[in-house]
Amino acid sequence: MTTKIYLPESELPTHWYNVAADMPNPPAPYLGPDGRPVPPEAMLAIFPETLVMQEMSSERWIEIPAPVREALTLWRPSPLYRARRLEQLLKTPAKIYYKNEAVSPAGSHKPNTAVAQAYYNREAGIRRLSTETGAGQWGSSLALAGQMFGLDVRVYMVRVSYEQKPYRRSMMQTWGAEVFASPTDMTESGRKVLAADPDSPGSLGIAISEAVEEAASRPDTNYALGSVLNHVLLHQTIIGLEARRQLELAGDYPDMIFAPCGGGSNFGGLAFPFFADKAAGREVRLVAVEPASCPTLTRGVYAYDFGDTAGLTPMMKMYTLGHDFMPPGIHAGGLRYHGDSALVSQLYHEGLIEATAVAQLETFAAGVMFAQSEGIIPAPESCHAVAAAIRAARECAQSGETKTLLFNLSGHGHFDMAAYDRYLRGELTDYDYPESAIRASLAHLPQVG
Ligand SMILES: *Cc1c(COP(=O)(O)O)cnc(C)c1O
Repeated sequence: MTTKIYLPESELPTHWYNVAADMPNPPAPYLGPDGRPVPPEAMLAIFPETLVMQEMSSERWIEIPAPVREALTLWRPSPLYRARRLEQLLKTPAKIYYKNEAVSPAGSHKPNTAVAQAYYNREAGIRRLSTETGAGQWGSSLALAGQMFGLDVRVYMVRVSYEQKPYRRSMMQTWGAEVFASPTDMTESGRKVLAADPDSPGSLGIAISEAVEEAASRPDTNYALGSVLNHVLLHQTIIGLEARRQLELAGDYPDMIFAPCGGGSNFGGLAFPFFADKAAGREVRLVAVEPASCPTLTRGVYAYDFGDTAGLTPMMKMYTLGHDFMPPGIHAGGLRYHGDSALVSQLYHEGLIEATAVAQLETFAAGVMFAQSEGIIPAPESCHAVAAAIRAARECAQSGETKTLLFNLSGHGHFDMAAYDRYLRGELTDYDYPESAIRASLAHLPQVG
C-alpha cells in the first residue's frame, strides 16, 4: 500500500501546458482605458517580453527554461499522497488523493511561478521587482525567487497582514526583500488612500496599485503578480502535469478535482492539465472552491473590471465583486481578491468548470480533521479544498460510490496558527457577504462599450 507517489527529478515536466489551446473560444482580450484591446507593447512597461508573449500565447506547450527547471528541483516534483487515514476517518469508499504543494521553501505553490518570473526578468536585464502581498505567501515566494536569481525585491504588504503576520515579513526580509506596510506615502495611489483614510487597513487592490505604479515609473523595475494572469496559471500547470503522471503510476484517474480559488492560480495549475483530457472527451469534474465571504465565482458578475483598486491595470473580463470590494477579514487571506483569473472565469462562464463556496467554520473544521488524520496542518486557503473534498467523500459514504477525488493542498498553515487558535477557542464566525454590499460595489464597474 503506497501512501506517497513520488516522481524522480528526471520526470520533472519539460513544458508548461497552455489551456488557451484547448478552450472552445479564444480568451477575451484585456482592454485599455479607451475600451480597445491592450496592445502587447503596452504591457512592456512593467513585464518582460517573454512573459507578455506567454500572456497572449495560444501554443499548447511552452518549454520550461533549464535554469527554471533547475530551481524547481529544490522542491519538485512534489509528492502526491493517498489520504488513507482521512478516508478511514470518513468511512468513505471514495479514494482521496492530494498534491502536497506545502513542500516548497515558502510553504505553498506560489514559488512555482515566482522562480519563472524572476528568471525571465533577469534575462531581460531587469534589476528590481516590485510586488504586493496580502497574507505574505506571494511576497515570501518572490523574495525567495529574487534571492535565487539575483534580483532586488520590494514588497507592498497589506497593512492589516503586516501587523498580524510579522513572521511572514521576517521571512521576506531573511530572503533579502524590502517590505512596506501598504498603503504607504511612497506612491501617488497610497497617498490618495491615506488622505481619505489615514487608518486604512489596506487591501490587495490598493497594494497592487502601489506596486504597479512603482514599476511603471522606474525602467530598472518590473512588476510581478502572484496569481490571476494567464502566464501565472501557465507556470502553475506543473502541478497538474505531475499529478496526472503520478495518478497514472497509481493506476487511477480522478472523477473530481478540487482546489482553493483566490485568483485562480493553484486551481488552474492543478485542473488545467486535466481540462486537456476533458476537452478530448474524458469525463472529469473540475471544482474551484472559494470562501462564502468572498464569493467571486458563485455570486459575482462576469464583466470587464480592473485588477486593482485605483484602476491602473488593464480591464479583464472576469467574475468580479467590483474592484473596490472590501472583503471581510477572514483568515484565508490568499482568497480575499475581488476578481478571478480571466481563463478560469471564461471556462466557468461556459459551464466547463464548476465552483462552490464554503463558509469559514466549515473550512477550519475540515483543516483540523485533516491535521488529525493526515498530520499536515493545511493553510486556511487550502482548508477550502479539504472541506469540499470531505463533502464529496461523505456523499460517497452515503451513496456507496467509489469516486476518485483529488485536491490541491496548496500550502501549510504554520504561519496561520493564530487563526487556528481563534478557531479552537470558538472565536471565529461565518461571514455571509450581504447582497446589498455586493450590489453597491458592482455599481462602480467600469463602463465598457
Ligand atoms: C495564494 C494562495 C492561494 C490562493 O491563490 P490562487 O491564486 O487562487 O492560487 C491558495 N492557497 C495558498 C496556500 C496560497 O498561498
